[in-house]
Amino acid sequence: MKMVDVPVCKCLACGCHLDQAGSPGSEATPIGGDITICFKCGHLMAFTDSLMLRELTEPEQIEIAGNGYMLRLQKLRARMLQ
Ligand SMILES: [Zn+2]
Repeated sequence: MKMVDVPVCKCLACGCHLDQAGSPGSEATPIGGDITICFKCGHLMAFTDSLMLRELTEPEQIEIAGNGYMLRLQKLRARMLQ
């Protein structure tokens, strides 16, 4: 997984400093509206157009609630933390 630098910001839930992002199986650079997961606490957020973090809107929460890719990412994160 290729990691790319993003502006330094904090997780909106745990305050963990975040300065890189990556997507398994992709070398894409995040863009505004992409969903991200805090590796430390698992909080789901979205990138703004300036690649800062914001909370998900209610429609975004509903859209990803049963998203298989996001569920696999959460399981991968949990395994990596064991
Ligand atoms: Zn966090």
